[in-house]
Amino acid sequence: MSRPYQVCTRCVMDTTASDIRFDAAGVCSYCIEFEQKKAQLVHRDPVEREARLRQFVERVKRSGRRKRYDCIIGVSGGVDSSWALVKAVQLGLRPLAAHMDNGWNSELAQHNIANLVRSLGVDLYTHVINWEEYRGLMQAFFDADVLDVELLYDNAMMAVNYRQAAAHGVHFILAGTNQATEGMRFPPGWNWLKFDKRNIVDIGRRFGGVRLDTFPAISSLGFAWFELVRRIRWVSFLDFFPYNKEEALTVLETDYGYRRYPFKHYESIFTRFYQGYILPRKFGVDKRRLHFSTLVASGQITRSEALQGVTGLPYPSEAALEQDKRYFLKKMGWTAAQLDGYIARPERSHLEFASEQPLWDRLVCFYRQLFGERARA
Ligand SMILES: [Zn+2]
Repeated sequence: MSRPYQVCTRCVMDTTASDIRFDAAGVCSYCIEFEQKKAQLVHRDPVEREARLRQFVERVKRSGRRKRYDCIIGVSGGVDSSWALVKAVQLGLRPLAAHMDNGWNSELAQHNIANLVRSLGVDLYTHVINWEEYRGLMQAFFDADVLDVELLYDNAMMAVNYRQAAAHGVHFILAGTNQATEGMRFPPGWNWLKFDKRNIVDIGRRFGGVRLDTFPAISSLGFAWFELVRRIRWVSFLDFFPYNKEEALTVLETDYGYRRYPFKHYESIFTRFYQGYILPRKFGVDKRRLHFSTLVASGQITRSEALQGVTGLPYPSEAALEQDKRYFLKKMGWTAAQLDGYIARPERSHLEFASEQPLWDRLVCFYRQLFGERARA
């Protein structure tokens, strides 16, 4: 990397995002893109926003008439999905909460999910993943030195949501995905296509000969089939509201016995170890920059708060990191030397393995022509 280091004067994105550009005032291209996107969001006008929300809720209710549930809401124990569940119930919807347990959930996350569904009176479906198979796939992803190990969780989680929707004849999956806290796009190379089942299969096969047996994977075509043939829509539900994370957290804590995490997505022990240790050390990626920059761009925190947020260890303490490291080593059956060896090896691209990326690009193009909607990347 010959490029001089630079950080945006408005947010905290920096030159670790390979395609970042800066204007004369030092404002980055991520800020500018986010501004343009924000301007297109309907929720800036409160009257129109209300009307759109009412219309949408009616559609969901109509589609679920005489059915046990009218929507599926995937819950991870995180704020975004918890808030989506609360809002849905407040609006009179009848969700089935769906959760995927991959063996890495923190106790706090389990506690948060249990409290939430109990106090809301919502049914919970938990898919417990076959740990031996999952561990084998994780090991294969580590051996392959590809960046997005969380592809395994995200892919299976989406598969579980779509399958539950299909099983109950439900047409809407309301997700905690949203522009207010996640609207800045991922820099290239910071994650991978989440519907890339072929990538999972190939990496599993080439490293350790792991076959997908019970793992609930979803491919690009599987996604297209659920959306276009089964007419199941994945909706970024929180975009219907002016979503403020801090306000949501306060309500969750006060009314639902929710307990907060020190950082975003820290509900899973692997996710926090991956984001707090593996990603920055092995891949030079600090996702906190993106999370905090989005919060700055959407006016939820100041830049100096964000700068504070990205300083130091991405862990509450050195001891907490050590504790997670020990947990990780034990659960994966690794020695400390194996972990060091893994961190030291260079990254390999997901594209060195069979991939659905080219197919996905064609599908997105087709989908946009058909619906004019922004497909999720
Ligand atoms: Zn910026």
